[in-house]
Formats: sequence, structure tokens, C-alpha cells
Amino acid sequence: MPFVITDPCIGTKDSACVDVCPVDCIHPRKDEPEFAQTTMLYIHPDECIDCGACVPACPVAAIYDSPDSTPASQKALIEANFVYRAGDAEAVAKAEQIVKSHEAAHADLMAVPPAERAAAHAK
Ligand code: SF4
Ligand code: SF4
Repeated sequence: MPFVITDPCIGTKDSACVDVCPVDCIHPRKDEPEFAQTTMLYIHPDECIDCGACVPACPVAAIYDSPDSTPASQKALIEANFVYRAGDAEAVAKAEQIVKSHEAAHADLMAVPPAERAAAHAK
């Protein structure tokens, strides 16, 4: 079961997770052209080896250890992680559309500073 990036990454997006991932499955990296256009980062579900290294590296607790453990308010973003593919413009646009819909549906969470958003997931 792959790890999942959720909405505290929005507004943070510092790539700390990318730097520690041993299999380079978190995208876009800062050196990829899509980095400037994406709202958050995504974990490739087939390439993630469930090592857990990214979780303590994330300063805003944006990463959950499986789709099952991802809170209800974040479930749509599982699909965004699953569809994103580096270098595939259609997949990038689809993932970003899911994120935009999530932002619109969760204005309450978006109003919370990124560092406090994970705590708000459980409420
Ligand atoms: S759990 Fe490991 S392999 Fe999966 S995204 Fe995090 S650092 Fe990469
Ligand atoms: S470490 Fe967390 S906030 Fe930073 S890019 Fe990764 S998931 Fe996003």
C-alpha cells in the first residue's frame, strides 16, 4: 500500500520528502518542468516501497502511510497521487484538477495554515 501526500503540502511544497526518498517516486522534483505548475507533490503508487522515510522528513505531516489511513477529508487526494505521472501533461492536469476541486470543497482546511492542517484533518 503506497504512501499518500495530502493537503498540508499545498502552500509548503518544500521537497524535503523528495530528498530522502530512496526510489525517487515523489514528483515533481524541483528539476522537473512540472514543478512550477503543480500545487503539491505526488507519490507514484506503484514505485513507492513503503519505507516510511518521507514521513518524518515532512515538516507539515502531509504524508499518510496508506490510502486506508488517509483521513476522510483527504480521500480525493489519493486519486491525485495515483493519476499524476511526470512528463504526461494530461495526467498532470488531471491530478491538478482533483487538487483544485479538493481546495474548493475544503475551504475550511485551506484557511488553516499548512503547518496546522494535519491536526485539523482529524476534526
Ligand atoms: S514511503 Fe519511502 S518509497 Fe514511499 S514515497 Fe516515502 S520515502 Fe519514497
Ligand atoms: S515534505 Fe511534505 S510539504 Fe514538503 S513537499 Fe514533501 S509532502 Fe510536501
